Amino acid sequence: MPAPVRITFLGGLGEIGRNCAAIEVDDRILLIDCGLMFPDADMLGIDLVLPDFTWLLENKDRVEGAVITHGHEDHHGGLAYLLRDLSFPIYGSALTLGLASNRIEEAGLLDRTELIPVKDNERRRIGPFDCEFIPVTHSVPHGFATAIHTPQGTILHTGDFKLDLTPVDGRLTDLGVMGAIAQNEGIRLLLADSTNADEKGYARSETTVGAVLRDLFVANEGRRIVTACFASHIHRVQQIADAAIATGRVVATLGLSMKKNVRLARDMGLLRIPEDKLLDIDDVGDLAPGRVCVISTGSQGEPMSALALMAAAESKWLKLGPDDTVILSSHPIPGNEMNVSKVIDGLVRLGVEVVHSGHNDVHATGHAKQEELKTIQSILKPEWFVPVHGEYRHMVAHAKLAQTMGMPAERTMVCEDGDQILLNDTGLTRAGRVPSGYLYVDGIIGDVGHGVLRDRRILAEEGVVVVIVTIDASTGEVLTGPEVITRGWVYAPEADDLLDECRQVVADAVHEACVTEGQRDIESLQRTVRRAAGRFVNARTRRRPMIVPVVMEA
Ligand SMILES: [Zn+2]
Ligand SMILES: [Zn+2]
Repeated sequence: MPAPVRITFLGGLGEIGRNCAAIEVDDRILLIDCGLMFPDADMLGIDLVLPDFTWLLENKDRVEGAVITHGHEDHHGGLAYLLRDLSFPIYGSALTLGLASNRIEEAGLLDRTELIPVKDNERRRIGPFDCEFIPVTHSVPHGFATAIHTPQGTILHTGDFKLDLTPVDGRLTDLGVMGAIAQNEGIRLLLADSTNADEKGYARSETTVGAVLRDLFVANEGRRIVTACFASHIHRVQQIADAAIATGRVVATLGLSMKKNVRLARDMGLLRIPEDKLLDIDDVGDLAPGRVCVISTGSQGEPMSALALMAAAESKWLKLGPDDTVILSSHPIPGNEMNVSKVIDGLVRLGVEVVHSGHNDVHATGHAKQEELKTIQSILKPEWFVPVHGEYRHMVAHAKLAQTMGMPAERTMVCEDGDQILLNDTGLTRAGRVPSGYLYVDGIIGDVGHGVLRDRRILAEEGVVVVIVTIDASTGEVLTGPEVITRGWVYAPEADDLLDECRQVVADAVHEACVTEGQRDIESLQRTVRRAAGRFVNARTRRRPMIVPVVMEA
């Protein structure tokens, strides 16, 4: 009887981001992706969010390696953190590894790993894992679906994908190979991208964006054009450059990651921009506006990005105005809508003409919609199905979609971060839970707890009141204070009376406790101060700032 195969979902099932799954064969662990998530607006001061690595750290000696399906940070951005504690080889397409290595190199951790490039349709053993890398189309080139041939049958992980029949580089999702595996050995378990599972129809082909861009470039003849898109979206960059060059412009990149990725992709032969058409941003100032196309970072409205600085008229490279057109060749990912609106507002205020996906087809999604997901189901006919890569509603929508194709509900399992599942001779079962909370990163410290975040939220929304009082250790009389200092509750110069009253209320409470009741224990006195101040503040202002009592003995 073949040994069971266990899968542990560490991230990406319940949110778009921090994708990470661990597959176990013969007691060894293979990671499929290790990504990060960008924080929501309510995660104050948080730079990024990682999967909870507790379970992996407990099993660190068993980690054989990681397969990175494609070059997006929600699939590889966690490596630069995990490699501090673990050391393992990383497998992926050459471009994926090139993009993933940036952060690892920044963290000084390149010597903790070996980057091993794999080719389209290559089949390779990674320890006990027999992996096959199948080309898929997505919004970054050279992504893979991964077929893992295990003692319990073939597990197919789609990675992020769409079925683009006319991709920019002609490299199609290899449905032939997937179909052959399904026909010959069968797919025991399918793990498939759910991002667009509640979107009807088909995702538009990436090449349709090229035609829209060309029309826009023609319509904006004589004007300077600034475009923004994801720096890893090499095919979008290619189409922007093609449209620019075809209409008599030169191209300049703006933003560090755009510059880096354009260089990387040109070196690898994946991006074709003639040398004489690619200028440094320093050198475009002398050219007539109608001869220039800038390709910038910041399409998600990221606050310090090149585009955000231009929108705030703070860019040292470009001053935008009524003679400029900005094309946002992107769509805000959930959570970024407000930042993007702010950037658009800033640009419009400067008199800039702004084109975005809200009123023009200047973007195409990289994720399969319902008809494509159905196509995958019909070709693969998996025995078991677990939707991955999505918020909870996306995964449920994906499960239902599969059921409309005849997939029995009892063979469809909606899982969440932290779930472990077991594939054995009788089928797929749930096998337990591992820690799966958000690991918040602020600066270089990878462990900002929920308590810290709760405090930040209270401080941001309600402010803080610090009450300082010194008592005589023997008599219990108040020696100095109470002193009341606040930030964010009331503005002190205008609220002196309120602060005076607060002082009096606290002084009375401390007197009552110390002198009348003989209380001397500092902790209980601090509670007394917090309670008295808190009640007063709430009664008089209906607010609940953080109350920090400081009681000292002299
Ligand atoms: Zn992706
Ligand atoms: Zn993704």
